Amino acid sequence: MIIAVDFDGVLSSAGKWPEVGEPNEALMNWLSDLRTGGHKVILWTCRVGEALESAVAQCREHGLEFDAVNDNIPEIVEMYGVNSRKITADYYIDDKAVVVKFEKGKEHE
Ligand SMILES: [Mg+2]
Repeated sequence: MIIAVDFDGVLSSAGKWPEVGEPNEALMNWLSDLRTGGHKVILWTCRVGEALESAVAQCREHGLEFDAVNDNIPEIVEMYGVNSRKITADYYIDDKAVVVKFEKGKEHE
């Protein structure tokens, strides 16, 4: 399983960019446990440069490392033969997410 996770407002409290906010230790611990179990975790954020480095550093200080940062994991690049701009994941954890599923024939359920 691949999980892409946002930083601001998710792993860290919102409104502090480019600084980091309060760490979401419960989420960091859960994601770290998932990695220990063999799952892949990608940091998926608009942050770049020093702001990104600060985010990665905060997560590392709380025990969370990433399999990729704003990038696909190598296995996905190899599987598809391209490195798409949209990160491939099974789940996206984001404070601005809206879940919409379209299944033909189930529009009125
Ligand atoms: Mg966010």
